[in-house]
Amino acid sequence: MDNTVTEKVHCLIIGSGPAGYTAAVYAARANMKPVLYQGIQPGGQLTITTEVENYPGYPNGIQGPEMMVDFEKQAARMGADIRFGLATKVDFSGPKHKVQIDDEKWIEADSVIISTGASAKWLGLESEQRLNGYGVSACAVCDGFFFRNKEVAIIGAGDTAAEEALYLSKLCTNVHMLVRKEQMRASKVMQDRVLNTPNIKVYWNSETDEILGETKVEALRIKNNVTNETQTIPVSGFFVAIGHQPNSDIFKEWIDMDEAGYIKTVPGTSKTNIEGVFASGDVQDKIYRQAVTAAGSGCMAALDAERYLSAKGFV
Ligand code: NDP
Repeated sequence: MDNTVTEKVHCLIIGSGPAGYTAAVYAARANMKPVLYQGIQPGGQLTITTEVENYPGYPNGIQGPEMMVDFEKQAARMGADIRFGLATKVDFSGPKHKVQIDDEKWIEADSVIISTGASAKWLGLESEQRLNGYGVSACAVCDGFFFRNKEVAIIGAGDTAAEEALYLSKLCTNVHMLVRKEQMRASKVMQDRVLNTPNIKVYWNSETDEILGETKVEALRIKNNVTNETQTIPVSGFFVAIGHQPNSDIFKEWIDMDEAGYIKTVPGTSKTNIEGVFASGDVQDKIYRQAVTAAGSGCMAALDAERYLSAKGFV
């Protein structure tokens, strides 16, 4: 493996959600000359949401993608070097940390802030994979538009599923919502909204048996897991909203994680088990997972990195 270093930086930030950009704002203002790699989805998960009503400072709410443009602009104005590119490998064996970008160039960093977020989970059905992009989607906000005035189904019972079902109900004729238990995990207010929306039909104790269709989604076979009865619902779209998994694969060899892959940090800090490597945002938070908590932890990571760099005499 040719891991010749072609660039050296004080602070490398991986990821461009609220955590990464906030870390970049703080690191730039502390003169750490941060370099931030945005990853495959610049702006992160908020770029696939609609209205954000719970981020303080926006009294009238704001669209997720617009908010992330604001985050990026602020980090850039402070002097962060923001680049398009994906961290593909890391080598945390030495006192200086090495990160490979786009399977090519290696960067050496005195400190690294991991803010790679989390991604949507899938059911794992063959038909789901085969019809992905042909009626199967994990983002109602991105793809709901294609199913205007059509029948769709959504699986999941958390806040994401509730939010997406409501979004789809405004575009589609009917939304069939599959809940695998006899209750939803979503917050009470979201459940009430779903249950009070006439064109959302909730199927309790129901799971997806198969997505039907050769080249595009045509129907869904669902199974009641109490009675074992199956039924087929004609739909054009199938939305999966069953939670997320942390984007932490490339760090596995080096960084301590829990069984689900969430990075472990020293409580009350952003420190990982590797000196000089910090983690912030959803990649290390399976409990709160909010934009504002991610931003707060990005701030913590930059402050921890600044203290580390000063103590080591790197800046
Ligand atoms: P959650 O982990 O909260 O919910 C996942 C849902 O998917 C659960 O209902 C789960 O069912 C179901 N599920 C998981 N696997 C399967 C499967 N194989 N088949 C069928 N159903 C399955 O994820 P969310 O993405 O909904 O939310 C993540 C976090 O983000 C939460 O803390 C949430 O509150 C927050 N959030 C907040 C929002 C807001 O405030 N506006 C909007 C969106 C998210 P079961 O309950 O049976 O385990």
